[in-house]
Amino acid sequence: MKDPIPLSASKIKKAQSCSWSYWATYHLKVPDKSNDGASRGWVCHLIFELLGNPRHRKLYDEAILKDSIFKCEPLRRLVGYHARRLNVNDKENLELINNMTLAGLHFDFFGARRGKLEEGISEQSFDITVDEGEKLYRLRGFIDKLFLYKDKSLAVIRDFKSSKSIFKGKDLSDNLQDLLYTLAVRKLFPHFKKRQVEFLFLKFDLNSTGTVKMPEVSEEELEGLEEHLSQIQRFLDDFDEYDAVSNFAGAQKYPSDGSFGGPLMCGKDGYKIFKGKPLRDKEGNKVVAYICPYRKPLDYYTLKDRKGKIIRSVFLEDKNKITPNIEAGETLKLTKYEGCPYWNKSHSNIDSFFD
Ligand code: SF4
Repeated sequence: MKDPIPLSASKIKKAQSCSWSYWATYHLKVPDKSNDGASRGWVCHLIFELLGNPRHRKLYDEAILKDSIFKCEPLRRLVGYHARRLNVNDKENLELINNMTLAGLHFDFFGARRGKLEEGISEQSFDITVDEGEKLYRLRGFIDKLFLYKDKSLAVIRDFKSSKSIFKGKDLSDNLQDLLYTLAVRKLFPHFKKRQVEFLFLKFDLNSTGTVKMPEVSEEELEGLEEHLSQIQRFLDDFDEYDAVSNFAGAQKYPSDGSFGGPLMCGKDGYKIFKGKPLRDKEGNKVVAYICPYRKPLDYYTLKDRKGKIIRSVFLEDKNKITPNIEAGETLKLTKYEGCPYWNKSHSNIDSFFD
């Protein structure tokens, strides 16, 4: 039997929201340029992880005292390096990174507000396989911050969000990340009987709407979740090209709960339009509209193992960043991605797509 693929909230959500997007990401490994928002979030998370380590308490104190991560020299250098690398080193992006990071650092960063802490963990990783009777699934992920309060038997699970909107609709009422993190902590720390997940939206006021505390998840709900995960595991372990074309986001209805789903996920080629005219930024440039990274054709390089399985992929301009291990049978191949078959009308006959 094959090893179960590791499940995560983002992987499951992707498979449920658009089957082709899942296929392009995890099977074809079509490279995807990170957008500014994701890059900014990545830098903030890096600082949170670093300053969560007690060895770096002095840096935390300095950033708080000076009310700026850029007035603390080691942080300035670190953020500068990664912001340059990720192309978010302009004034606007750096200001956002500073503000979001400070928001997270100011908000009970060490978990002392709730009382005596047994342990505070930054970036708690987990890779849990459950194989008990009907239950068979594997969960993998990271928890940004985990605070354990022994006297309250309470585990607080904190996740930092750098998105520009707070949860709406299903994301709020039935949040998969909340459920999976709760389940992971029950497995990792079973003696903590109460578990609370909180999402901190760093662009919002964390003392009011920016902090979303999820209701406690009951034992019955977790039991049901484990059964559901086992079904998802079976489905994704056997996911093939025919599953890939079974549920295009573009073919779904527009969401009625204000969430980001259905054809909204496909985006569009071109510029954002406002009142019939192209929307412009402060400098007068037209603002490029969001487009799904898998909608248009793309050539890229794939590194394959001896059996032809894709190990990783890069954009054409990044070819020199990967070197195949020839002795191990690895190869580097130019790969042509034809674009999303839902939009690429020449592949409207799905079977022809796999010829
Ligand atoms: S363009 Fe739309 S249908 Fe195609 S992969 Fe992206 S989200 Fe899915």
